[in-house]
Amino acid sequence: MKALRLEGWRSPAVLRDVETPVPGPGEVLVQVGGAGACHSDLHLMHEFEDGQLPWAPPFTLGHENAGWVHTLGAGVTGLEPGQPVAVVGAWGCGTCARCRADLETYCDHPERTRAPGGGGGLGLDGGMADYLLVPDARHLVVLPDGLDPAHAAPLTDAALTPYHAVRRSWAKLTPGSTAVVIGVGGLGHLGAQVLRATTAATVIAVDPRESARELAKRGGADLVLAPGADLAAQVREATGGTGADVVLDFVGSDDTLLAGAAMSRQLGDLTIVGLGGGTLPVSFFSLPYEVSVQSTYWGNRHELVEVLGLASRGLLHAEVQMFGLDEAVTAYELLQAGAIEGRAVVVP
Ligand code: NAD
Ligand code: ZN
Ligand code: ZN
Repeated sequence: MKALRLEGWRSPAVLRDVETPVPGPGEVLVQVGGAGACHSDLHLMHEFEDGQLPWAPPFTLGHENAGWVHTLGAGVTGLEPGQPVAVVGAWGCGTCARCRADLETYCDHPERTRAPGGGGGLGLDGGMADYLLVPDARHLVVLPDGLDPAHAAPLTDAALTPYHAVRRSWAKLTPGSTAVVIGVGGLGHLGAQVLRATTAATVIAVDPRESARELAKRGGADLVLAPGADLAAQVREATGGTGADVVLDFVGSDDTLLAGAAMSRQLGDLTIVGLGGGTLPVSFFSLPYEVSVQSTYWGNRHELVEVLGLASRGLLHAEVQMFGLDEAVTAYELLQAGAIEGRAVVVP
């Protein structure tokens, strides 16, 4: 089969012929129906080096995946070939206390997994290929009615990650509150929809691209802004001077972190999701009083079930640009150039 391989740090992804995997006991072979191109993959191709992450290339890219059950390994029950499924991306040991609590992103036994904190497409072979080997049936969620794999794939990261982040701040997103989404790309356009679908907050979305601001409006943002030196002042003005209760930063550069801190309301949350490499000086007076600064990483199975449920009810919809597997490199080039609206999804 064909697979888009990351063969080393700071190297471009290349399409190769590889052996089609055969599922062993407990494993499931999924025929890929959609693999999203995440900006994190660009960070992997361009920025990371040995020792920064607990795993390393070579592996097949693609960590947001959906498709159809193809072949069941020995002993797998409860799934049928042909069933449409979404793949829960973080593959922990499955037996430690955190994995049992559905926190496989934070497995207590990294030595028992081959890619701690990661999974297919992040340390192990992912879904930018004709087939994806999933090491355990528990990582598969059957798609609800009305969802096809190409549109479900981005939900496993581009929607799940903002859902997990928004969920942490639900208690602060009361009627009358304001949430700001910084960066309306793959994650941010779904982040705005998650806020609209699950909270009563006023949603402000920020992106330098006009097309991304339009996408945010279509997804239910109340106000869209372009970033600039006066961004925090504009958010303060839009909130009657109080500032934003929750800021979700899907960029994470020096500029966005500083603006995020400056636009936050006392007692608010400033959540860093983007891996933009920026730093924020944190001290007593560098933030409004009692603002919590937090990072969030991906999400878990029960949250994915909820995300799929929202999508099945029409409350979340990934804007998707589809590419063939032989166009995957182009998809990443367009993502790098800021020329993708919503999510690029590779459909083998
Ligand atoms: P993307 O390229 O699809 O979207 C990024 C968006 O940010 C684009 O629309 C771009 O125009 C906009 N942008 C750039 N500079 C900006 C600025 N100064 N102000 C406002 N908007 C700006 O990327 P994505 O796939 O949505 O990923 C976003 C970030 O989140 C990446 O850094 C990615 O690695 C990270 N990520 C983190 C997690 C996690 O679990 N923490 C999961 C997935 C992705
Ligand atoms: Zn990702
Ligand atoms: Zn574990």
